[in-house]
Amino acid sequence: MNTPTKINTIVDAGLCIGCGLCEALASRVSMQTTASGSLRPSPMDGFTEAEESLLCSVCPGIHITPAIANSGDTDPVWGQHLQMHYAWATDSQTRYIGATGGVLTALGQYLIKSGQVKFVYHVKADDQQPLHSHACMSESSAQVLDGAGSRYAPVAPLTGLQTALDRNQPFAVIAKPCDLSAIENLAAKDARIKQLIRFRLTMVCGGQSTAKKARDVLNKAGIKESTVTLYRHRGHGNPGPTRIETDDERSLEISYQDLWQDEAGWQLESRCKLCPDALGECADVAAADVWPGGSPTGEDAGFNGVVVRTEAGRELINKATNAGYLTQGEPITTDQFNDFQPHQVKKKQTLKWRYLGLERAGLPTINAPLSRLDTLAEQLPVEQRSAETTGTMKRFGSAGDDS
Ligand SMILES: Cc1cc2nc3c(=O)[nH]c(=O)nc-3n(C[C@H](O)[C@H](O)[C@H](O)COP(=O)(O)OP(=O)(O)OC[C@H]3O[C@@H](n4cnc5c(N)ncnc54)[C@H](O)[C@@H]3O)c2cc1C
Ligand code: SF4
Ligand code: SF4
Repeated sequence: MNTPTKINTIVDAGLCIGCGLCEALASRVSMQTTASGSLRPSPMDGFTEAEESLLCSVCPGIHITPAIANSGDTDPVWGQHLQMHYAWATDSQTRYIGATGGVLTALGQYLIKSGQVKFVYHVKADDQQPLHSHACMSESSAQVLDGAGSRYAPVAPLTGLQTALDRNQPFAVIAKPCDLSAIENLAAKDARIKQLIRFRLTMVCGGQSTAKKARDVLNKAGIKESTVTLYRHRGHGNPGPTRIETDDERSLEISYQDLWQDEAGWQLESRCKLCPDALGECADVAAADVWPGGSPTGEDAGFNGVVVRTEAGRELINKATNAGYLTQGEPITTDQFNDFQPHQVKKKQTLKWRYLGLERAGLPTINAPLSRLDTLAEQLPVEQRSAETTGTMKRFGSAGDDS
């Protein structure tokens, strides 16, 4: 494994996801938008040796850490799970507004109402710049609901983590799997994380788009970013349309199918193509879409699939159900989940071969213990393996990052 000793080696190699932990841990650093529309820490030099060492050891770009080894079933793709089934928010407004079925929002609302946490740390759209999003600490059901929906454009969820920890109150985090890995990495250095973060909730994640995706949508529609008052990626239905509103009262809706026709159109962060934990093994509960074949064919009432990974997650799901926040549906098998998430299965099978490409290009490699990548790699047809390795060498070895 090539282990970097400087954070800019990770960023230059295209392995930064823009989680924001650099800003949280080094006060003179802030997350800035690069020319290609990613969030990256800046400046990236002038760190002390101790700062470099801390940042390199917690960065989720190269360290992915499952939070809990439990005694549930282990599946090569889906990992440890205690139960998997359909679920949705019982409250019809939460179910409608949520990205899929509003499960993550409903769990956050239940945790606050039941007094188990003082706030939910998550993200929401920026009122002033609606293409952007920022970290927030929601203390009421209404505030948690205000952050519902998936934000596909760049957001650095962890910029406010120190502020959240400094409150010294119990809280829950809802964030992407890589954000939760960053938190778990930091737990080895900051004991407050285990004391204060009572629940970690996540979404199954196909990848973070760069800002170019949203800008392309605006350009195509002839809309100036400065006039945008609302940019909603999905939700208000399942999946719900992407909806844009402007200050001169224009509005535009684009269906999920039209927006995300092919994977190339997503403009994904390069690191997402190497993600070993898009299925949220670092969380108590992961919530996903459940469209057969992996794509919606229309709108529906909102159904999540949940992967419950820990005893704490199981207790949460059951208590939230008994308290009337969540409705549980039929069990889901790993075969069904593989059908719902074919892109995730395929990606997992390529990872070992892609990591070989990083290694051969002399770039930092990704440390992902317990991810079963050797087993998964054997499932990829032999004739496809070397193309994954050489493709990664070319993409990461030459392009790197533009920040
Ligand atoms: C970038 C991205 C890619 C995704 N790709 C897939 C996929 O491939 N397959 C799949 O099944 N599902 C994917 N999802 C998840 C899906 O869109 C839903 O988020 C998930 O099903 C949970 O739905 P929900 O109704 O319970 O969420 P909600 O109740 O609407 O809650 C969503 C929560 O997630 C938080 N959140 C939203 N966007 C972000 C973000 N960018 N970073 C951190 N936190 C955020 C919000 O603050 C909110 O608390 C993706 C989500 C994102 C953000
Ligand atoms: S992924 Fe996070 S910790 Fe790593 S370099 Fe980027 S902002 Fe910093
Ligand atoms: S695909 Fe992986 S690296 Fe990319 S945003 Fe999702 S969890 Fe993070």
